[in-house]
Amino acid sequence: MNVVRTTPPRPFDIAAVFPELGPLARTAIRLHPRPGPVTWHDSSVGGPLLWPVDEPWPYCDLPHESTSDIALADLRLQQRVRASEAAFPDGDPHPPHYTAEERAVRDRLDSEETWLDGSWLDGPVAMVPLAQLYLRDVPVPCPPGRAGVDLLQVLWCPFDHPPEHYMPRSVVVWRSAAAVTEVLVSPPEPPVVVEEYVPEPCVVSPEQVREYPNPADLSKELRDRIEDWSIRQAAAVAVEGGYEPYPESDYGSHLSGAPGWKVGGWPMWGYADPTPRPCSVCGTETEPLLTITSSEWDAGNGSWIPYEDQAAASCAPRDRRDMQHPTRVQIADCVTQQIYICPAAVEHPHIELMQ
Ligand SMILES: [Zn+2]
Ligand SMILES: [Zn+2]
Repeated sequence: MNVVRTTPPRPFDIAAVFPELGPLARTAIRLHPRPGPVTWHDSSVGGPLLWPVDEPWPYCDLPHESTSDIALADLRLQQRVRASEAAFPDGDPHPPHYTAEERAVRDRLDSEETWLDGSWLDGPVAMVPLAQLYLRDVPVPCPPGRAGVDLLQVLWCPFDHPPEHYMPRSVVVWRSAAAVTEVLVSPPEPPVVVEEYVPEPCVVSPEQVREYPNPADLSKELRDRIEDWSIRQAAAVAVEGGYEPYPESDYGSHLSGAPGWKVGGWPMWGYADPTPRPCSVCGTETEPLLTITSSEWDAGNGSWIPYEDQAAASCAPRDRRDMQHPTRVQIADCVTQQIYICPAAVEHPHIELMQ
């Protein structure tokens, strides 16, 4: 976690033009995940968890459905191969030397024999690590109710859960790292997974940014004014590359919520419309905890590409792919999954939505 990534300033300060946005500013922490070596002691996406040996590992007992399974052992091997390949730039005349086992798995995965039947899905499924964030690195506030918390762990079940949820189902754990005296070295793993639901092990480079609400979370009156191009022109501001008929897209794409994996901030509507999110226990409005996205940025919001990645993002195809999709997680057709927690009490259940 020694690489710094820096989001460029927004094209202009939207709250200077619409002061009523000022009190709505929230802090989000962009994680900037990138494939790399991680241990129990690191904040990570998809890395190993600091898990006590005497604490039960989470399992999912809901019905499952999958049509694109892969053996997890094969996927883990592929991930190790990709990690070694990452050390070689495109066009390097000396690519990594594969072992016989690695070649065999790659050949098998390229064949038709990779399709597995789903009969094993009848039993409970061991969850897989999604993110581990030490609060020293990612200062997300833990809801009240538990002392000494300095570590957030999120796991999920790497399958769809029809008929209610065509997305993975998550578990949120807050703990004290010092209380873990003996670590579970080999946690249970499902034999088969949906490939797009198992993140590539990634280091993170947390960066705090300021967000304003998604356009769908604004009042119609304010949204109409933000979409009124003449107001922006009067303020002599404009977004580079923006164009007059659709000014609202500039706010949504460049001025409000950061794309990519992040903690905190505002809801990311788009695939779904805004929906009330009361805590099922106390009724308090839940707040975004973790945002899981299919890409860090896309063709429409490139202003969020960190300075440190801009040169590579503009030229090298492999580098661009790795930066845009570093975790290789994909939710449905490139949508977002957000996990919400109740700010009133740590033990109240979380909510998750596809957005
Ligand atoms: Zn499940
Ligand atoms: Zn609550």
